[in-house]
Amino acid sequence: MVSIITYPDKRLTRIPPLCESPVPQEVLDDLLAGVKENNALGLAAPQIGYNYRVILVLGRFMVNPVICYYMGLSVAYKECCLSIPGEEFTILRNTIVLVRYQSTDLKTLYEQEYRGHVSGVIQHEVDHLHGVLING
Ligand SMILES: [Zn+2]
Repeated sequence: MVSIITYPDKRLTRIPPLCESPVPQEVLDDLLAGVKENNALGLAAPQIGYNYRVILVLGRFMVNPVICYYMGLSVAYKECCLSIPGEEFTILRNTIVLVRYQSTDLKTLYEQEYRGHVSGVIQHEVDHLHGVLING
């Protein structure tokens, strides 16, 4: 089992540096395992103790993700976070984001628009890379 770091552990509020070399396989494996074991939609590396700018959202690794724009309506989403077990929060999120990110070997730059629920999941996970939790 991959252990999930929970609030108020200070490792959750660190801001990881940009990844400038390929992401270690161990980090990727543990992110995949953490998502699978918890049936999660997404997970950010800081939640499992890695100070890396990496998230896994719906099966896709996003390295150094940046949300280039927020569009669409602002909608109240009910969200949970593995790092704040047993609680649910209502968070206002835009329904559309454009996210730019790199592949795990840093060789490919992607730019993709996401809508609806996935947009909310990406915003949640990117927040983790800024040391921001949904209870803050
Ligand atoms: Zn979370």
